[in-house]
Amino acid sequence: MPTVCFGHGERKGHHVSAEVTNLVVPVPAFPPRANRMHVFDSEMTELMTDYVKERLAMADTSVDGLGDRRQLEGVMAGLIGDGPRPAKEVLDIYVDHLAETVLSSDSPRFFAFIPAAPTKAALLFDMVVSAASLQGCSWLEAAGAVMAENQALRVLADVAGLPESAGGVFVSGGSAGNLSALVVARDTARYRRIEAGLPELRMRVLVSDQVHSSIKSALNIVSMDALVVSTLDGRMTEANIRAALAGNPDVGEVVAIVATAGTTNAGIIDDLAGAAQVAKEHDWWFHVDGAYGGAGMLSKQLRHRYDGIELADSIVMDPHKWWFAPFDSAALIYRQPRLAKAVHTQNASYLDVIHEDEDDFNPSDLAYHLTRRARGMALWFSLAVNGLDAYRDAVDYSLAMTKYAVELIRASEQLELLREPDLSVVLFRRLGWTHADYEAWGHRLLRDQTAFVTHSSWRGETIGRLVFLHPGTTTAMVDEVLATLQ
Ligand SMILES: *Cc1c(COP(=O)(O)O)cnc(C)c1O
Repeated sequence: MPTVCFGHGERKGHHVSAEVTNLVVPVPAFPPRANRMHVFDSEMTELMTDYVKERLAMADTSVDGLGDRRQLEGVMAGLIGDGPRPAKEVLDIYVDHLAETVLSSDSPRFFAFIPAAPTKAALLFDMVVSAASLQGCSWLEAAGAVMAENQALRVLADVAGLPESAGGVFVSGGSAGNLSALVVARDTARYRRIEAGLPELRMRVLVSDQVHSSIKSALNIVSMDALVVSTLDGRMTEANIRAALAGNPDVGEVVAIVATAGTTNAGIIDDLAGAAQVAKEHDWWFHVDGAYGGAGMLSKQLRHRYDGIELADSIVMDPHKWWFAPFDSAALIYRQPRLAKAVHTQNASYLDVIHEDEDDFNPSDLAYHLTRRARGMALWFSLAVNGLDAYRDAVDYSLAMTKYAVELIRASEQLELLREPDLSVVLFRRLGWTHADYEAWGHRLLRDQTAFVTHSSWRGETIGRLVFLHPGTTTAMVDEVLATLQ
């Protein structure tokens, strides 16, 4: 590394080139204020690292709460001006006013939506990625980062049973991953139709009635329509699919199937082998959305439920969910990355240089993005430091805690389990409660800092929902939450 050189050298006056003596080139004036922004400041660094250490050391991280717009507006008014402000003053505003109004999704008491539980190793390496400005665009610019990210992607691809030729990229989230995969599915089908001399077509994608909202949103963006498969109990099966296709006049427009490996609301794994079979018969693209549930494959007791995932053309799994990595990170893996490359490579003359060697692997070419943070490296570091057994145990622990909650719900007179969980989501009914009661329950738990829970709905009814993911969640915490339902 070169030594830090800001603030040195001849910056004043005019420099007269020795060779071109009649040319006087004005040298830009030295900008002390701009320069200060880039000089290492040990005091500010200590301030920040002390805070970071404190935050990393938290175990039973408080859930924190909701913000009051008026109050926050008051705190923030005029904070950014033309002149500087001490870092301590601004950090204090963050710590005292802002951090408290950001729910800690990494709290072991966070049971809503899909919680986060990044490992300490992953969080620490994420800071390295920031401190070193690590980008992961192309092999030319970032070979080391690309190697590390690909090693992590290979672990995920192996868990899914994808062939050696599979490859992919870490994108910002499951939504971005689903979108980029569907673009490849669409354009691959489009190229094939053009080659076969077939006319242009408004295309369709077969999805279940439980598919994630990001798929619907992505279909809107890529101008494709959904052919919706009705499920009886939330799980899309081969029989459901065939029933939806039978006699349906739109079948000729379908080019892909999306199956979900762990629905977000209920944690249901579709019949992936069945979906793969139908996709194969029709030569359709087979995409598996495992944003939340993909990590469940790490559990030996569950692995068989994902049979068929190895036949996918593309898979999404979010490391920032159940793979214990920090935001924002989703792994998008293709069976044949060259198809994605053909669709997503951005061609600009200044980019020619990164595409000169056909064998080079450029993450930027595999999704809709160009500049990208090497966001997969946090997972990579944590996988290497902790080893896969620790991940298997962590996933099994989430499942065990889910079973614990299920047993308590079963034993309760007031509560009814709505379905046996496949993964780590528990859906239940509190007898006699209305929508307002569930809402008040959530507010009460948050106010008391017992937990963060949100209600959901199941077949049109408002219900209670708990998601277990954090290895720091204890049975005492679960007892505490369930006691508030009696
Ligand atoms: C969370 C989730 C998504 C969206 O992922 P983001 O990372 O939030 O964009 C998509 N599909 C499923 C099944 C999910 O659980």
